[in-house]
Amino acid sequence: MPLYEYVCGQCDFKFETLSALADAHKKRECPKCHKLTGERALSTNSSIWPLGEPAGFG
Ligand SMILES: [Zn+2]
Repeated sequence: MPLYEYVCGQCDFKFETLSALADAHKKRECPKCHKLTGERALSTNSSIWPLGEPAGFG
């Protein structure tokens, strides 16, 4: 199973957990505040254009 990054909507704690792809969208219990508020974190360190925006774009 792939490892997914989640972020807690309650306390902003980030954690990673193994999840089946079908369950990846489901909320997870935050290991810090123990509320069912962990949501999939959107990847912010991977750009659509890894080498920067294409020249002339826009
Ligand atoms: Zn939390």
